[in-house]
Amino acid sequence: MAARVSGSGYDVIVVGGGPIGLSAAYHCAVKEGKKVMVIEQYNFGNTHGSSPGFGRQFRICYSELYLCKLAIESSKEWDELMKDLNDNSLLERTGCLWFGDATVKSSEGNIDEAVKNLKMLSQPYDLLEGKEQIQSDERFSFISDAVNDMENPKALFVKDGGPINVPGLIEGLNRMLKSSGNADLIENAFVKCIDYSLDDEVRVWIGQQPQYIRTKKVILTPGTYVNHVLSSLTPTLKERINLTIYLWSSIYFKSKAVSRTLSSVSGSSNKWPIWYFFGHPKENDLNCYYGFPSETKRPNYARVAPAFTSNERFDFHLYPPDACSRPLDKDALQFTSDFVKKSMPSLDPKLTNDEPSTCVAGFAESCKEDDNGVGFVLDFLPGENINDRIVVFTGGWAMKFVPVIGKILKDLAIRGKTTPLYSQLIKPMRIDRGVLLTENAIANIKSQQPVKGNNLQRAAIFNKIWLAGPP
Ligand SMILES: Cc1cc2nc3c(=O)[nH]c(=O)nc-3n(C[C@H](O)[C@H](O)[C@H](O)COP(=O)(O)OP(=O)(O)OC[C@H]3O[C@@H](n4cnc5c(N)ncnc54)[C@H](O)[C@@H]3O)c2cc1C
Repeated sequence: MAARVSGSGYDVIVVGGGPIGLSAAYHCAVKEGKKVMVIEQYNFGNTHGSSPGFGRQFRICYSELYLCKLAIESSKEWDELMKDLNDNSLLERTGCLWFGDATVKSSEGNIDEAVKNLKMLSQPYDLLEGKEQIQSDERFSFISDAVNDMENPKALFVKDGGPINVPGLIEGLNRMLKSSGNADLIENAFVKCIDYSLDDEVRVWIGQQPQYIRTKKVILTPGTYVNHVLSSLTPTLKERINLTIYLWSSIYFKSKAVSRTLSSVSGSSNKWPIWYFFGHPKENDLNCYYGFPSETKRPNYARVAPAFTSNERFDFHLYPPDACSRPLDKDALQFTSDFVKKSMPSLDPKLTNDEPSTCVAGFAESCKEDDNGVGFVLDFLPGENINDRIVVFTGGWAMKFVPVIGKILKDLAIRGKTTPLYSQLIKPMRIDRGVLLTENAIANIKSQQPVKGNNLQRAAIFNKIWLAGPP
């Protein structure tokens, strides 16, 4: 490479301008006054990563105690961020409703385990037991038909929960970064090479440009593209993160009373809690769904989504499918429509073309059975010469943690460590917990047959192949 240096260099370069990367940059540039560059391969707010669409769920109920604690910390950080950005719409606390069969363990968690954690942490919640209690509570009438044929359903309601306004978050962080004067925000620029061979600087090369940018530290927040970025490291890092990437679909359902808003037919739909239903798994229908209140701009609609993919062709290993070849999971949407028909009387269950979408979500999987990392990775990259200069975040259901993870990434990049409390909470997200694949294991994954069966079977079979090691 014909090396030419561009500018005098940065304190931190952030690779990946999604909400997590922007939040990390915000903490470095705005809160700490560091000189920062954010490099995004598409535009800020693009639909090719994990953050398209309007809403995501914020909740503090978790089966994992450490995530419950981290979400409580994140809740405080959301309040601070909304104050700083002068925008109270970023997290609307309409509450979080988990309901259905408390014996079901889904990718979201388990009702009884979450109750145990909330109790332990003295967080307020309402627990309703049995069909009568749930169905006579007006707050949940928009959806309580879902438990009609369940024996002993439970409902957990937690006030500290609600929809996150993702476009507002991205716009607000961009605005603050620009006005700080400390950040350069670069769009449509692909990071091609990250050279950490020198002790006193890291060199970042973008796209076709014959020049590099100097930085002291690098924060990698490329979402599901993380293994592409790992392959751009010089000296070469041979391992890859064992990421399973799902193509999740969701869709909006229209109010049955076309001429009226949803609010007028089923309570204040813009005040509905965010919700998650735990049903009994059927073969390809995992029977777990989640949804949102109606959005201010679309008062006649509510978004409902399946918490699963219907078929192995929507699951990917290591790398996300190309942005232009991401099919819609029509079967999962049909299951969702059936659920809406049975459970949400104010919505028209007809599948229309009202913004069906797919979105990539990645989860780091460990070869260790006792892994408690829930798909997250937050750590320094391993490697002799890296010397804590490159920190990475990927995986998991992370939108609710955007403010707190941004702060932790800032701490790690600038100070080399975070607070004792945060250090404790991110321990399960370590990169050395069995989520790094060796070259042999990568070859094994590439050559494996597509994994057939329903979600649960596919996960089990995949783990077996992975554990077996190279043939
Ligand atoms: C359908 C769905 C529902 C979800 N629901 C929830 C929820 O309810 N609650 C919750 O907390 N979380 C939820 N999540 C997860 C959440 O959306 C993600 O955790 C979050 O969007 C991750 O943000 P990010 O910034 O890490 O990644 P992304 O938004 O994917 O951003 C990464 C960015 O890095 C850029 N990039 C990658 N490689 C390069 C490169 N080499 N050079 C430059 N730029 C690069 C990409 O273009 C992208 O813009 C959901 C995800 C999906 C898909």
